[in-house]
Amino acid sequence: MSRLQGKNVLITGASSGIGEACARHFAKAGSNLLLAARRKERLENLKQELEAQHPSIIVSTFELDVRSKAKVDAVVASMGHVDVLVNNAGLVIGLDKLEDITEEAMDTMLDTNVKGLVYVTQAVVPGMRARNSGHIINIGSVAGQQAYANGSIYCASKAAVASITRALMAETIDTAIRVSEINPGLVETEFSVIRFRGDKDKADSVYKGMEPLNGDDIAETVIFVAGRPVHVNIAEMLVFPTNQA
Ligand code: NDP
Repeated sequence: MSRLQGKNVLITGASSGIGEACARHFAKAGSNLLLAARRKERLENLKQELEAQHPSIIVSTFELDVRSKAKVDAVVASMGHVDVLVNNAGLVIGLDKLEDITEEAMDTMLDTNVKGLVYVTQAVVPGMRARNSGHIINIGSVAGQQAYANGSIYCASKAAVASITRALMAETIDTAIRVSEINPGLVETEFSVIRFRGDKDKADSVYKGMEPLNGDDIAETVIFVAGRPVHVNIAEMLVFPTNQA
């Protein structure tokens, strides 16, 4: 029997890409799903598909913008308990030189990738402390480890995720709560095109000479990390396409 069977797994940003792939893989492992994102219709379609494929699991969907602390608190309070939180919601708004980044783009990235992740974690951790169990898995990025031109704010947001992960790990050291970070390299998702403001040719040129990762590659990693015995915490994983330097 999978260690993940019957666990309640909250995945933010489950409406596409890595989050959607995680939903499929946790469903296969027999977990109940708490799927959150802004595009509720996509979550509903995914729920129908997964419940049809896996009749023993319960899939709940939540329209949620993680940038609103009040909404996050209300939605998480309505969920019942969370065994595993996959903090995946995140985005990049274009890739621009520091002097060209608009205040709006900067706020959107920091509010989503950093503050949103913190809000969801704050809403979930007290319940995990009360049960002395739980696992928080943050989706960071290689961008949090190696800053590159035109990526200053996105890279900073993911560096913040790394710091938050390590600090939370230290803060929960006297509990059975696990805290992990998975840092993907290049993964082909909607994000790949959004970061170039819809320019598909530019997006494709990034993958020249390599086969990028796909959502399943990261979801399989998340399942591996979540599925270790409770005394094992994989603190950090860096997952690259083979030909990414
Ligand atoms: P996608 O664009 O496919 O998915 C992003 C998800 O985040 C969507 O489901 C979106 O849902 C959700 N999201 C965005 N903003 C919000 C918000 N304010 N509130 C709630 N949900 C939100 O991209 P990926 O799957 O690639 O990205 C997932 C994570 O992986 C991100 O954190 C990203 O930074 C990280 N990552 C991606 C890499 C890549 O190369 N693709 C590499 C390294 C890390 P909705 O729009 O419905 O709200």
